[in-house]
Amino acid sequence: MDYFLNENQQTIKSLARRLAEERVLPVRAELDEKEEFPWAIIKDLADADLFRVFVPEEFEGLGGGCLELCLVVEELSRVCSAVAVSYAASALGCMTLMEYGTEEQKRKFLPDIASGQKLTAFAITEPTAGSDAGNIKTTADKVEGGYVLNGTKQFITNGGEAEIYTVIALTDKTRGARGASAILVEKDTPGFTFGKKEKKMGIRASATRELVFRNCLVPEENLLGRPGLGFIQAMKLFDRSRPGIGAQAVGVAQGALEAAVDYAQQRIQFDRPIISIGVVQNMLADMAIHVEAARALVYAAAKTVDSGAKNVTEASAMSKVFASDTAMMVTTNAVQICGGTGYMRDFPVEKMMRDAKILQIYEGTNQILRNAIAIELRKRKARTP
Ligand SMILES: Cc1cc2nc3c(=O)[nH]c(=O)nc-3n(C[C@H](O)[C@H](O)[C@H](O)COP(=O)(O)OP(=O)(O)OC[C@H]3O[C@@H](n4cnc5c(N)ncnc54)[C@H](O)[C@@H]3O)c2cc1C
Repeated sequence: MDYFLNENQQTIKSLARRLAEERVLPVRAELDEKEEFPWAIIKDLADADLFRVFVPEEFEGLGGGCLELCLVVEELSRVCSAVAVSYAASALGCMTLMEYGTEEQKRKFLPDIASGQKLTAFAITEPTAGSDAGNIKTTADKVEGGYVLNGTKQFITNGGEAEIYTVIALTDKTRGARGASAILVEKDTPGFTFGKKEKKMGIRASATRELVFRNCLVPEENLLGRPGLGFIQAMKLFDRSRPGIGAQAVGVAQGALEAAVDYAQQRIQFDRPIISIGVVQNMLADMAIHVEAARALVYAAAKTVDSGAKNVTEASAMSKVFASDTAMMVTTNAVQICGGTGYMRDFPVEKMMRDAKILQIYEGTNQILRNAIAIELRKRKARTP
């Protein structure tokens, strides 16, 4: 299938593929086994200028959009979804800054993010606020010269490894979600520490950690945009970032499909390769159809985001739901086709199946996103005479 990517997009995609195969592939099983953050690979991605892809040119980036980011994430995820999410989370962590930050804030933070010297993270989730993200309790009380943060964020990707955190906290706790604001917090700020490091089913080389704020004073100039708009900023951010999760899903599904095809060609049972068996062929064909359909939807959603369209909620949610359900189906079937070998840790598809599951959960569970799609459908119906 040809998506008519321009020369720049093709270059980015092949660079990410080359790095994934040369640098990530040889170590992915070890990183997963040791649950070790992939710092050496992050450095390779930085040296290859891949962190510049999602940063505007005036701040030392390459000025790419959602599609360019998706191309990198897809290629990294085809080999290792944990590496892909560590990279993608750094884009997520600076998108609010890029959208709502002042010129001064962008000048201060973006060049180091573009060079890959500093990773970022985005933190909204708390023990009481998962799908119900508006129920956050972390407070940011206004004091002279800044905000004092108190509270705990849970399950934060790149937690502990990132230098810059976009934190959603209540600057007006009497107004609930309408009193939330986005605030940048730097790693070494006194009163900011890291709590529990999660041990996960999949994407095990990525870091998922609690952020703990105890009387943490953050300078006033770290507020992003207007106070009280943090929740809306976060919801808009996810609308623009969800195709990236879709791209992660397309990548992991593509990797599993390729591994299953290779295995089915080599595995002899009943004196013939199992790929010559009709049932196996049908499974592989369905997997391939779903992967391509997911890719088409993700690229289309990414282009919709890049077009500057006002409402991208539906396109973005559809791409994430369909691609992540596809990744779960394709990786599960890949394990099935590879039989007992597929179930073993020294073969890649069991990791891919574990890595796929989270894609149906984070950045809005697929149930919540189906609700969001249905709301958009109802709105459209209401507008139709
Ligand atoms: C590995 C990992 C990395 C993460 N990274 C980040 C990060 O970087 N930053 C961040 O802020 N957060 C992050 N998260 C949090 C993630 O976004 C939440 O886990 C997710 O939104 C779901 O929230 P929850 O886990 O509290 O589940 P819950 O909200 O408790 O949901 C439990 C179940 O109930 C269902 N459910 C709940 N409400 C409804 C409803 N109204 N309709 C239908 N079904 C419903 C859900 O779909 C789900 O199946 C991460 C989580 C994980 C596991």
